[in-house]
Amino acid sequence: MIIVLGPGTTKDAIEYITKKIEDAGLKPLVSSGVERTVINVIGDERILDKNQFEAIPCVEKIIPILKPYKFASREFKQENTVIKVDGVEIGGNKIVIIAGPCSVEGKEQIIEIAKAVKEKGAGMLRGGAFKPRTSPYAFQGLEEEGLKHLKEAKKEIGLPIVSELMDTKDIELLLEYVDVIQIGARNMQNFSLLKEIGKINKPILLKRGMSATINEFLMAAEYILAGGNQQIILCERGIRTFIDHSRNTLDISGIAVLKELTHLPVISDPSHAGGKAKLVTPLALASIAVGCDGLLVEVHQDPERAFSDGEQSLNLDAFGKLMDEAGKVAEALGRTI
Ligand code: PEP
Ligand code: MN
Repeated sequence: MIIVLGPGTTKDAIEYITKKIEDAGLKPLVSSGVERTVINVIGDERILDKNQFEAIPCVEKIIPILKPYKFASREFKQENTVIKVDGVEIGGNKIVIIAGPCSVEGKEQIIEIAKAVKEKGAGMLRGGAFKPRTSPYAFQGLEEEGLKHLKEAKKEIGLPIVSELMDTKDIELLLEYVDVIQIGARNMQNFSLLKEIGKINKPILLKRGMSATINEFLMAAEYILAGGNQQIILCERGIRTFIDHSRNTLDISGIAVLKELTHLPVISDPSHAGGKAKLVTPLALASIAVGCDGLLVEVHQDPERAFSDGEQSLNLDAFGKLMDEAGKVAEALGRTI
């Protein structure tokens, strides 16, 4: 159950309500957003008398929620959440394309890609500076230097920046340089990291863990929401299955199911799902057809020489073609790109 309090509710009133909940043996979790304060009641709420809360003047409404994830559910919020990133809206009618290399490799490299993807219609620039690599001997990312190049690219080209955070120690750094903080598949259940980014005021792009169920994915988002950060973009990036014809299996039905269960924007990453450049466009189009709000696509000016994930990166021409095709699918669905 979630108790929504009206604007201007006093501290005393919040204390009065939380005490009532505690007296009943349940746990109140207070979350004060920019617009309003809500109290999430944890435990078997059936023992509470809903009427006694409804009678309190500052209580705007009470929402019973049966799902284990509360703030993430459509029961809590029916209308789609639209996240604003530096003038770009994600979760609305326009499908947002986030494009760029797997890794930032240098200033010229990232600026050239930023310029090209913007010309072709991308709304944001991606680029990893901290890279989670399977091998400790593989390129690990340029770290702060990479973030500086991203900031330069933003200054010159103007696209908002998405980059991955792997460790709580780097939160301040990411806050300084990027517009959206990505939490990668490998960290989807890094609960201490999720708790920390729940406390910050910056949009989060949360990628689905490689073997996470939809429920586990939404519970991970719930950690961030429960901390007070309401700006989450969910990203389906393929899950591990028994097949070996693609790197992962893009869970197309998962995208449709997520759109039904949650109000949060859902985007698709056809690059890490397919693992091969030739699969990226078909998977991107399928994702749009099934209702995603955006795409995360790896693009490189010279994929053969990319420091990471070259085999799944589109070259600039192929990205242009993806944009043309994606525009047609979006239009057929009454959306724009
Ligand atoms: C990435 O986006 O470059 C990345 C490492 O993705 P994932 O966490 O989905 O593997
Ligand atoms: Mn990658």
